[in-house]
Amino acid sequence: MSASYVPGAGRGAAAPPRLDADGRRARRGPSGPAGDLSGLLGRVADGARLSAADALRLFRDASLLDLGIAADLVRRRVHPDPVVTYIVDRNINYTNICVVRCSFCAFYRDPGHPEGYLHDTASLHAKIEETLALGGTGILMQGGHHPDLPLSFPRLHVHGFSPSEIQHMVAVSGVPLAGVLARLKGAGLDSIPGGGGEILVDEVRRRISPLKTMSDEWLAVMEEAHRQGLPTTATMMFGHVETLEDRVTHMQRVRDLQDRSLAGAPAAFTAFISWTYKSENTALGGEETTSADYLRTQALSRLFLDNIPNIQSSWVTQGKEIGQVALKFGANDMGSTMIEENVVRAAGAHGCTTRVEIERLIRDAGYTPRQRDTLYRPVA
Ligand code: SF4
Repeated sequence: MSASYVPGAGRGAAAPPRLDADGRRARRGPSGPAGDLSGLLGRVADGARLSAADALRLFRDASLLDLGIAADLVRRRVHPDPVVTYIVDRNINYTNICVVRCSFCAFYRDPGHPEGYLHDTASLHAKIEETLALGGTGILMQGGHHPDLPLSFPRLHVHGFSPSEIQHMVAVSGVPLAGVLARLKGAGLDSIPGGGGEILVDEVRRRISPLKTMSDEWLAVMEEAHRQGLPTTATMMFGHVETLEDRVTHMQRVRDLQDRSLAGAPAAFTAFISWTYKSENTALGGEETTSADYLRTQALSRLFLDNIPNIQSSWVTQGKEIGQVALKFGANDMGSTMIEENVVRAAGAHGCTTRVEIERLIRDAGYTPRQRDTLYRPVA
């Protein structure tokens, strides 16, 4: 394949949906001058930083395949080897009891609900043992905002707790954020997942999860974590009520924080993971966005987030085939085998796979699979 951007190579591809100010699908407007967009994509593929205004133009007017080609060129500049990484790990959702009631969430149960659960230490240990036996290298601990869970709960070596869970610990314990993170790190926390990022625009957050942390609080946890030497990931859950402008604003806020962390903190974001809203069993309901919209957004994230090395394909929400296609739209990582996952599965996502299958998916897409750990280091 050519190593340079071919203007208009993907023109004529099916147009993805656009969202109007209310987050509904809007009719596609007229494209800008094709040469203009091609020049812009070429400059970004060559390493120029993309502005928010230009990202929005590309979102609106560039064709699906042109975005994919440019994102793939950037991916190959950052990761020249045709290798796609994956991790064998397990999401332990230690409780589904939650007082936050996000309208997009099908996983949580109110306190006192008969289907509510809280895993005890023995069952957590059993899940960890089983993960190790399956060749797993990490545990992702995430759960609801349980009203009675004390800060002393985690006594295991874990990767986990999204910023909103950590802010909940701050509220429940009265310990300041820096102190909570220091105690979690002291108890064995190695890194923090980017869960709960959704869209980092408060107007959107007030519509879909008004009781959850707002954007500044989410970013504050990540910035403090980086200061304390805890690497984190960044996520974006899209395709619900947000606009394309909101998606770009989200990426801009992530990129700005990453610039600050890379300039002065011992840790930073290791990866950006975007996925689409799944509507099944949720209060929010509504239509789900298309796979084309997913691929455009993922490609844009590779083009815009020039300071985050790893972009993960979301086969869990998109299905395994689109997960493979996403590897040509800027992704260099296939994510997790998901020995266990309960949150997006409750909303109709596609579940788990095996090491054998994820390696086959990667090979069939034309890449060499390589197992990694949570910090994206190769596993021997
Ligand atoms: S997404 Fe998280 S915080 Fe929101 S209701 Fe579900 S479990 Fe609770």
